[in-house]
This record gives sequence, structure tokens and C-alpha cells, in this order.
Amino acid sequence: MAENLRKTAQRDAILYAIQHAEGPMTVNQILKEVQKKIPKLGIATVYRTIKHLLKQKSIKVVSLPNDVVRYETNDLGHHHHFSCVKCEKVFDMPGCMLPKINGTEIYNGYLILNHEITLFGECPSCRGI
Ligand SMILES: [Zn+2]
Ligand SMILES: [Zn+2]
Repeated sequence: MAENLRKTAQRDAILYAIQHAEGPMTVNQILKEVQKKIPKLGIATVYRTIKHLLKQKSIKVVSLPNDVVRYETNDLGHHHHFSCVKCEKVFDMPGCMLPKINGTEIYNGYLILNHEITLFGECPSCRGI
């Protein structure tokens, strides 16, 4: 019983961290964040919990170019990612600057159904603003 409660608390804390992040998180970022609340949390538990949350469809995998695997909650809707080339953090960018591109046919009959965009640049804190 106590063991189950502990597992539930760990799972809740991990999901909370992913839900309240500025962007998709790496396993190490999740570990560091949740260790603020549960110092004894180990990396194996994070991996096991991620697997469980993926199966539940509470979270999904985010694969960005030249980056390690990250995770975000499944309910965010369409958005883009901003990858800071200085601090290497990834941030969610609300909205879409190409709202009309899906359903558009580009040259020679290629029909766009969906898109994923990663913007690379410097985040406000790295720019000192
Ligand atoms: Zn930055
Ligand atoms: Zn978009």
C-alpha cells in the first residue's frame, strides 16, 4: 500500500513537471525538476514512469532535429518549438505563423496536410532581456 502511494506520488510529480514546463523536456530535465520535490527519485523511475505515461497517452514524444528525445503533454494542440542555440532549452511557441498552409497544394501536386516547425535562435534570457 505504502509502495503504491509512493509510486502514485512519483507519477503525479513527473506528470506535473511535464505539464508545467516552458517546453518539451528531456529525461534529465524531468529528473532534476522532480528531484526538487522528491530528492531520492532515480533515473530508472523517470524512464519507467515516462513509458507508463506514453502508454496512457498523457504525454508524447517530441523529436526535434539534432536533439535528444523530449516529452510534452498530449493536449497542447498545434504549436511550434523554439530552440535556443545558446542555452539549448526548447520553448513552446503559442499559435501558428502559417495557419493557412495545411490543405495547400504546392508545386507539382504536393498537398500539405500538416507541418512541424522548429525555430532556432536566442531566447529572451540569453539575450539579456
Ligand atoms: Zn537561451
Ligand atoms: Zn503551425
